[in-house]
Amino acid sequence: MGELNRKKGWELLPLLEKKDISAVELTQACLSEIERTGKELNSFISVLADSALEKAREVDATRSKGRPVGKLAGVPVAVKDIVCTKGVRTTCGSRMLENFVPPYDATVIQKLKEADAVIIGKTNMDEFAMGSSTEHSAFGPTLNPLNPSKVPGGSSGGSAAAVAAHQTILALGTDTGGSVRQPASLCGIAGFRPTYGAISRYGLVAFASSLDQVSPFAKDARDLWLISDVISGHDRRDSTSIPERLFNYPYSDSKGKVELPKNPRFGVPKEFWGEGLAAEVRDSVRGAIDRVSKAGYQVEEVSLPSLSAGIAVYYIICTAEASSNLARYDGVKYGLRVNDYKALFEMYAKTREVGFGAEVKRRIILGTYVLSAGYYDAYYLKAQKVRAVMKNEFADVFEKVDFLLGPTTPSAAFSLGEKTDDPLEMYLNDIYTVPINLAGVPAVSIPCGKNKESLPIGLQIIGPQKKDETVLKAAIALENLGIKI
Ligand code: GLN
Repeated sequence: MGELNRKKGWELLPLLEKKDISAVELTQACLSEIERTGKELNSFISVLADSALEKAREVDATRSKGRPVGKLAGVPVAVKDIVCTKGVRTTCGSRMLENFVPPYDATVIQKLKEADAVIIGKTNMDEFAMGSSTEHSAFGPTLNPLNPSKVPGGSSGGSAAAVAAHQTILALGTDTGGSVRQPASLCGIAGFRPTYGAISRYGLVAFASSLDQVSPFAKDARDLWLISDVISGHDRRDSTSIPERLFNYPYSDSKGKVELPKNPRFGVPKEFWGEGLAAEVRDSVRGAIDRVSKAGYQVEEVSLPSLSAGIAVYYIICTAEASSNLARYDGVKYGLRVNDYKALFEMYAKTREVGFGAEVKRRIILGTYVLSAGYYDAYYLKAQKVRAVMKNEFADVFEKVDFLLGPTTPSAAFSLGEKTDDPLEMYLNDIYTVPINLAGVPAVSIPCGKNKESLPIGLQIIGPQKKDETVLKAAIALENLGIKI
């Protein structure tokens, strides 16, 4: 049967169904891998071995009685530690929430439970999802399983590392500015950020609410389709949740051929080839795009002039929203409260001083500044206007082409410590991912090659709003062309 934990969800489901393998065996295989490499990689903040095995046993028992089971019955899924899990500590990678145990499940967790998935653990992350390397975690950095001297990307680096190291089959992260696509690219796996509103944010701890979206990791695009089908759907508890059902995974035909729209047109934004892009990434992504056109697909150059403002706009809007969202950690409502204070204000100040790390503090200060009376118009309002222009440019370009292609990140995985002293360098890593969040469109990253050090490089495929399934089908079609590591 090979090593079960190396297989994909869509390969495992039929084996589980036929009882060729059991959910317990599969869960054990993942847990042994966590046991073997989890400490060194620091991919998990909490491993839920007991509840995972209990769930696996329950699924096996239900199956053996011939009773119906859920859509992901027996498949291990790791969850970023920013998604609330009832009765299970949810830290957000922060000392502020080190001992916070939510009294309820996020909607995505409810959906995973209803689908009989096995929740294997909560993964490490940059504090409050702020970062691109998972080095800003109060629980120490996560290492890249392909080369432990390199970062796995971030902020969902724990989930990416767990999938790449075969410690789980599937994982959830969150993508506010690239935190799923970027680590997927750096770890050589697939990561998908859906249309804003496609997946409920209820129970997701907020960083920047107009950009945040729960987003999955997997070893290939078909598995992303599978898990997106399970976790998506309208939720009345999230006012930004969209009513449409965007995914319809063909469970009965897991290996079935995937049809793309007739004569699909691929656009390549010329702004993607500017300054800061490593030659090895440029060549690898160009090579992948050449294969797309050699396969007979139409590929043309397009232009979205506002892309160059992406980083500036994103870091104004996300810090503004973060400064507001993080005001709730005041030592009263949630998590940490220091003991040594004389008056209320001192308690607030000391709690926030001790509870938040440097990057979170930097963003609260920046966000408060751009929202302040004297600067609101110059920064926040201006950024919102550019965001609207960007949205329109995406809408216009998708009148001409069906998909956009380009790099996911400007470089392959960098070394631990390389960018921690230079926040701007770290922010520049998000140059190709943040415009997608600002526009609210879906995008997937799949591996398309390796550099000389054998580190993976990612190709990003972007589509129009609500065409999520088509974007995933395009990713499957490109994987089938042999675009992979
Ligand atoms: N790296 C980006 C940031 O630091 C994106 C984070 C995210 O998507 N959560 O804000």
